Amino acid sequence: MDYKEKLKQIVEYFGLEYKGRFIYMECTHREVTLHNFLSGCPVPQYANHGSMKDDREKYLQDFMNSEDSKYDHRGTTGTVISRKGLNQAIIRVKNLDSSELREELLDIYRRIAEKMGEGVNLVLVATDKKTVPEDLLLHEFVHELNNENNLRINEWKWNEGLVTYMAHYGLGDYHLFATDTSGFLDSREYIEYGKKWHELFSKTNSPLERRQLIQSIIDSKNFSS
Ligand SMILES: [Zn+2]
Repeated sequence: MDYKEKLKQIVEYFGLEYKGRFIYMECTHREVTLHNFLSGCPVPQYANHGSMKDDREKYLQDFMNSEDSKYDHRGTTGTVISRKGLNQAIIRVKNLDSSELREELLDIYRRIAEKMGEGVNLVLVATDKKTVPEDLLLHEFVHELNNENNLRINEWKWNEGLVTYMAHYGLGDYHLFATDTSGFLDSREYIEYGKKWHELFSKTNSPLERRQLIQSIIDSKNFSS
């Protein structure tokens, strides 16, 4: 897949700026899980085991011993780590009681820092397939694009729904949100909220209107939370 071409189509349609490096690093499901938890991922399976503040390291060991830690252990899963997120994570890791977890995480973050180089973002992706499914990698790149355009919604379902919708715009099959999404690989909740976005976007007629619509949802969700 020509990711740059797809991302450019998305940028044009939603009135964004083309910003990002769009490189990725493959890692294990366990590594994605460790980082997602530590960085404050708001998905309930994570959030039920720790506060939403910057002290997740206190709960990491218990979380890893729970069934919920297997939430991201199947299929393909990914996340975007920013330079700022990387630096914060390293500080939190140093506060961990368990020296084993500390070593394991410091090793992950060393590899991430190396791959990130001078950049400010890196997509992490884990898969049980032979190669990373292209549509899910595009999804992660759209997260990076949106972060770079300051488009991030605090309510995770709305955020994931938007990213899912935008990625399927790039893939050219977004119209299926109105009819049949059974061929989509995305999580059920992502598709459910992708449908809501499809409904909202159907009333827009230009990139500017689409961009403004996204901003209005961000303002309403981020203000109320
Ligand atoms: Zn996502």
